[in-house]
Amino acid sequence: MFELTEEQLMLRDMCRGFAEKNLREQAVEIDKTHKFPLETTKQMADLGLLGIMYPSEYNGADMDYVSYAIACEEISRVCAASGTIISAHNSLCISPIYYFGTDEQKENYMPRLCTGEHIGAFAITEPGAGSDSGGTAATAVKDGDYYILNGTKNFITNGEYADIHLTLAVTDKDGIKNKNTSFFIIEKGDPGFSVGKVEEKLGICASSTTEMVYDNCRIPANRLLGKPGEGFKIAMHTLDGGRVGIAAQALGIAQAALEEAAKYANQREQFGAPIAKLQSIQNMIADMATEIEASRLLVYKSATLLDQHGANRRMASKNAAMAKLYASECAHRCTHKCIQILGGYGYVKEYIAERLYRDARITELYEGTSEIQRLVVAANVLAEYAE
Ligand SMILES: Cc1cc2nc3c(=O)[nH]c(=O)nc-3n(C[C@H](O)[C@H](O)[C@H](O)COP(=O)(O)OP(=O)(O)OC[C@H]3O[C@@H](n4cnc5c(N)ncnc54)[C@H](O)[C@@H]3O)c2cc1C
Repeated sequence: MFELTEEQLMLRDMCRGFAEKNLREQAVEIDKTHKFPLETTKQMADLGLLGIMYPSEYNGADMDYVSYAIACEEISRVCAASGTIISAHNSLCISPIYYFGTDEQKENYMPRLCTGEHIGAFAITEPGAGSDSGGTAATAVKDGDYYILNGTKNFITNGEYADIHLTLAVTDKDGIKNKNTSFFIIEKGDPGFSVGKVEEKLGICASSTTEMVYDNCRIPANRLLGKPGEGFKIAMHTLDGGRVGIAAQALGIAQAALEEAAKYANQREQFGAPIAKLQSIQNMIADMATEIEASRLLVYKSATLLDQHGANRRMASKNAAMAKLYASECAHRCTHKCIQILGGYGYVKEYIAERLYRDARITELYEGTSEIQRLVVAANVLAEYAE
């Protein structure tokens, strides 16, 4: 049903080859040093991975969402931190500019983002507004031809390295919840904007996760993205695409866990034979492989739906949430089993199993926790059966 096209297969081979050659060793190193992989991010840009599903008129690679999912999967299979970087850049920063920006905004920002000359980020989370972005407290007040922003965002991916980011702020303080916010394009160097606290994390350690602080940040009024009051709508539209990227990231991590576990099980001997001969090990391998295959079908289907619905991608919300929910929990289970199969060796840093386990955990949290994905899926299913 989901046969990849020749172009998609070529992309997969290219990403796989690049990741093996340029990311595999580095992934171990940057997990320890927490160093953002700027050089290899620029190399991924040269391969077109920083503007995968955008038109060539904006320097994009002119590919589709399935290709985007394949790239996220293959890069994350080797280096999940790099997977996070391209996922946030492509589907959280460029996507809303592409779908909601004016021609001028698209011409101004997209070409430099798609070539990777500029790195992008997307900021909705605040200390008091996580799952409920309706609780946004940051404000943007119109002042002649400018907006003045105040507030703090936290946990923002690519934060320290973002040349451009999108931020959500309340523009109508008396307005109805979820209809009172708007998005703005912020540039590095805007007066009153600074990067705050840099987080130390459990996994994806080399990705940057920071606060974004607006202290009377003054930006031209033409940096408003979409119409005033469209903030929540843009956020949900954007996350439908982003969730497919995170689902693909989880899939890549789970696949890496399966490969590591299977190779180890074939080599490791106990009681005079490879542990792969033990049925309890075989059961774990079988469950991992089956769940990964199911995840892959969900990921590719949800990406295909995004391609089919284009700007109407809210039609694909349910499947994007299902893919993220299932693939992220699959990655959790698979990385857990990988450690189990490696025994004590799974717990020490000589092997990649413990990093995979730590990296997998974030996929159940960001771009909506598993509980929030279940809410989205249930709301869609119940609506389908309502009279
Ligand atoms: C490494 C990292 C990178 C991130 N990158 C970004 C980024 O680039 N941009 C950005 O804007 N944000 C980013 N985030 C933030 C992330 O999206 C939020 O952390 C996430 O949405 C959850 O919000 P919270 O942490 O405030 O948890 P909370 O919303 O406080 O949730 C706490 C618990 O309550 C549950 N819960 C909350 N509401 C409900 C409900 N209605 N029903 C059932 N359960 C519920 C949650 O599922 C969770 O278990 C990032 C976070 C991390 C850790």
